[in-house]
Amino acid sequence: MATEFRKALIYCRVSSLRQVREGSGLDSQEHRCRQYAKDNGLEIEKVFPDDGISGGLFERPAMKSMIRYLDDNWQENYVVIFDDLKRFARDVDVHRGLKRELKDRGVKLSCLNYTFDDSPEGEFVETVFAAQNELERKQNRRQVCQKMKARMERGYWCFYPPTGYQFTKTKEHGKLIAPIKSVADILAEGLNAFADDRLLNQVDLQRFLAQSRLLQLLNKKKIHFDFVKRVLTEPVYAGIIEYQPWQIRARKGLHKPIITEEVYFRNQEKLRRPERKPRTTDSLEFPLRRIISCAICGKPMTGSTNRGKSKYYSHYTCNNKDCISIPKNITAALVEDQYVEFLRSIRTEQDVLPLIKEIATRLWQDRVAYLTRNQDAIDEEIKAINNEINEYVVQIPKAKTDIVRDLYESRIEELAAKIKILGKGPENKKIPDFEEALQLMLNFIGTPAESWKKANLEQKILLHKLIFTENPTYSLKTGFGTPNLSVPFYIKEHVEFQIYCMVDSRQKIWNTFMDDVLEWCKVLKVLDAGVI
Ligand SMILES: [Zn+2]
Repeated sequence: MATEFRKALIYCRVSSLRQVREGSGLDSQEHRCRQYAKDNGLEIEKVFPDDGISGGLFERPAMKSMIRYLDDNWQENYVVIFDDLKRFARDVDVHRGLKRELKDRGVKLSCLNYTFDDSPEGEFVETVFAAQNELERKQNRRQVCQKMKARMERGYWCFYPPTGYQFTKTKEHGKLIAPIKSVADILAEGLNAFADDRLLNQVDLQRFLAQSRLLQLLNKKKIHFDFVKRVLTEPVYAGIIEYQPWQIRARKGLHKPIITEEVYFRNQEKLRRPERKPRTTDSLEFPLRRIISCAICGKPMTGSTNRGKSKYYSHYTCNNKDCISIPKNITAALVEDQYVEFLRSIRTEQDVLPLIKEIATRLWQDRVAYLTRNQDAIDEEIKAINNEINEYVVQIPKAKTDIVRDLYESRIEELAAKIKILGKGPENKKIPDFEEALQLMLNFIGTPAESWKKANLEQKILLHKLIFTENPTYSLKTGFGTPNLSVPFYIKEHVEFQIYCMVDSRQKIWNTFMDDVLEWCKVLKVLDAGVI
């Protein structure tokens, strides 16, 4: 004889905190469930509302207490009502786990928008549906792959286009990749320069790309080394289609190349060959090479040497053939002297530094207070997790099935891992020595020219990049143009304002300044140590 179900429990859940705060979700769900119970002659014994929690099986306190409630009242037969299958569980595994948990306790599940069919046939159908979906997904994928392979063999690039290309539609070819001129021109220039040794190695190419408009065009922050490598080894740029995983050997593609095959193969050859011997000119230092730009045409200036009777003369040069700047070669020492003067002109005046120091120190105290507060919260969380673990440990011997026991155990492992991660935080995030970092920063923005002069070549380039967000422009006639400076070099303009009011937009600039203080101190410290 069938079991008689008279009593019902309602489980409802809202998944966002906003829903909880507004209070809309739970009430209406509960209302619908109550209506359903009434229509089916069920008596509601208890409602279990979970709020603001999305996640796995055990991250729901109300679900947990409902299961506990079922265990405590094992002699009763309950119907558990949900208003929507989605409230039950979105994830298939969680869905199965929860269903099993409840089934183990002899519960009948009722959902307002879905009929649970508990017969063997019903479960079979559920499984078949799932399997069919999976099969279709896989078949689809296979078919797409076969089509793509055939098209690639005919010379069409079918994957996501490499940087500098995009898909276009043509009458003759359908979908075909084509160069995006602005980006492709820069890449081509770099690849050609690498091939004929104007750029000696991958680092040079990286620097070249980083100083071009590429970052801006691609909306990137940095040119990473693996990007350079990818660009250098991309056959598509030379009009070649090749894809080893599908055994598609190199063939001529139908798209427009941006470099010749010759350049491509020369570059592959160069990548294979060991580093060449240094040239005579390599020992000459060009600290401003490629990081200052020609004021006439905007292209980065290169360093060059001319051989005189007894020695080499070094120059900065605009290598752009179309550029009308005169003279082409400007004595390196002259440019560098003017550069030092230029740095002097952007220094922060000595009498402003104490004010900057005062504001930054105050902001830092705020930050520290915030960090410490956070630490308290973390400690609290660890304590809560430990309590939860203890709860599961107590539960394990009571578990009725292996499945439940396994679930408890894996949950304990999960929680233990979480504690480990949380516990790691504070040790790694030691509060840095801000005072020292700030002093280094103040020294630097107060005397950038002196810092630059005492730096070695590599440090000079680093410092330059800290100071300028964009290549400064230079011509012999006009000297250096108005520079684009990083935040610390114009923070002085935000000092007066700061004293009297803490407006949000100002705060943002100061936040950047504070981040830079912490960030830059690594470079500045090395520089500082180098002098002593
Ligand atoms: Zn020029």
